[in-house]
Amino acid sequence: MEEIPVKVAVRVRPLLSKEILHNQQVCVRLVQNANQVIIGKDHVFTFDFVFGENSTQEEVYAVCIKPLLVSLTEGYNALVFAYGQTGSGKTYTIGGEDSASVAADERGIIPRAIQELFHHISEHRNINFHVKVSYIEIYKEELRDLLDLETSMKDLHIREDEKGNTVIVGSKEFQVECADEVISLLESGNAARHTGTTQMNEHSSRSHAIFTISIHQKQSAEYQNAAQDSISSKFHFVDLAGSERLAKTGNTGERFKESVKINSGLFALGNVISALGDPKRKSAHIPYRDAKITRILKDSLGRNAKIVMITCISPSSLDFDESLNSLKYANRAK
Ligand code: ADP
Ligand code: MG
Repeated sequence: MEEIPVKVAVRVRPLLSKEILHNQQVCVRLVQNANQVIIGKDHVFTFDFVFGENSTQEEVYAVCIKPLLVSLTEGYNALVFAYGQTGSGKTYTIGGEDSASVAADERGIIPRAIQELFHHISEHRNINFHVKVSYIEIYKEELRDLLDLETSMKDLHIREDEKGNTVIVGSKEFQVECADEVISLLESGNAARHTGTTQMNEHSSRSHAIFTISIHQKQSAEYQNAAQDSISSKFHFVDLAGSERLAKTGNTGERFKESVKINSGLFALGNVISALGDPKRKSAHIPYRDAKITRILKDSLGRNAKIVMITCISPSSLDFDESLNSLKYANRAK
């Protein structure tokens, strides 16, 4: 049987102190050895990986992301994205927080992957690595370059080159030499991330953020043999916009239009992922063109890429409806 390129993980965060303070109840539990999540009385879902409230950042990284980093260095494209309602733990898990305020063992996926990549590079002196970084945001179906705010209003265009790689014409790609350099780019991009004030959460992420590391590797001249060409590959780390439904956020007017656009991106991504996982649709049309997010990620949304979806869930019974919706979305991706 052909391997399905998408692995699906679910992570249930702990109750936050303010939720405990308000005496909120937990409505989600895990059956760890069966990789199951049970929500409410009787909704049972099975996934590739499940992480509970005691899971650590290190564990999530080691189980879900380390294999992708290995694939990246072998020349595959890789993609991890975090899905879930606002407040469910997406940014915490991906590692898009202001890292100055985060203890080392609480760091999320991106800084860990950066450290490991440069460790790998330092151990392979016979290979010349070129590493480039970009950080793009999609807000209301428009692109913003988080590493180049000066010209944020300029048009950025998504193109596909002759090899099928996605390129964003007009975006800044920084060539980097060490992990610290990447971390500081990540931080400046995090600080620039668009936040609007919604009724639900003032720091609600209404945008998708895509952090991309591209690597290009070539054997050093003294080791080179003619058969060995250079290899290019990239790793996208995506912190998706909150998946919450319109009614709950009570948005009207501009906010309503914004929500429609956000949901259409999440819907398009769900369709692509589910098409990829369906062997019957092997040669069928995969609907990349339906949204900016799927167009940008196209070169890492194929059967040759390694993809991990992490669905983040709040355990609170107040969030039951959204959590159930997120689990259904994740279930479609399997
Ligand atoms: P989102 O990006 O989905 O809106 P956040 O990542 O900002 O959600 O998480 C919301 C809050 O919950 C933050 O204060 C974050 O630090 C906390 N949090 C999320 N996941 C965890 C976790 N696994 N363990 C501890 N705290 C968490
Ligand atoms: Mg967030």
